[in-house]
Amino acid sequence: MGRDPFARTGRRSPAHGRDNGSDGGGRLFPPVAWDAAEPAGSSGLTADGFSRATFLEAPVCDGCGAGFEFDGGAFAADRCAACLAKPYAFQRARAACVYDDASRDLILKFKHGDRHEHAPLFARWISRAAADLIAEADAVAPVPLHPFRLISRRFNQAAEIARPLARMSGLAYLPDAWCGRGAPTARAARARGGGG
Ligand SMILES: [Zn+2]
Repeated sequence: MGRDPFARTGRRSPAHGRDNGSDGGGRLFPPVAWDAAEPAGSSGLTADGFSRATFLEAPVCDGCGAGFEFDGGAFAADRCAACLAKPYAFQRARAACVYDDASRDLILKFKHGDRHEHAPLFARWISRAAADLIAEADAVAPVPLHPFRLISRRFNQAAEIARPLARMSGLAYLPDAWCGRGAPTARAARARGGGG
């Protein structure tokens, strides 16, 4: 792809300062990439890892955040066929990147491997992908984990991403805003035949 998702934001990339979880080491040594023991590029990944990842940028479906193959212009529907046929329970969503062979390992290490230090990187990716939603938001609230799942994973990954996302976006962080018995987005995804 060759695009730097942070190039147009004017923000510091995760390769600088504490945001890469390097305990400040990034100020003294070249930061290490998240996907391999090599120096990180401006995205926080190696150059190879970054070129393989598919970051979701406009045009995307305004409902689920899936990428549109073509920009249909001003008169095109802003929702994908799946969302038009069967809308999700939520109104709008965004995803940072496509979940595929290039991103799976990084995500699963964070999800199941206690790799908390990936959270600021994912928060920065989401802050870009969801910039239009964040601009209209008043606060950031993580979806809670079911208590049993919280025991097995030991931490709520959504909260680990939501906290730095709120901070870098200048929004309030409301960790207890959601209440329920589980993760509704995961259940909704499964109900639609997706992952979760
Ligand atoms: Zn959609």
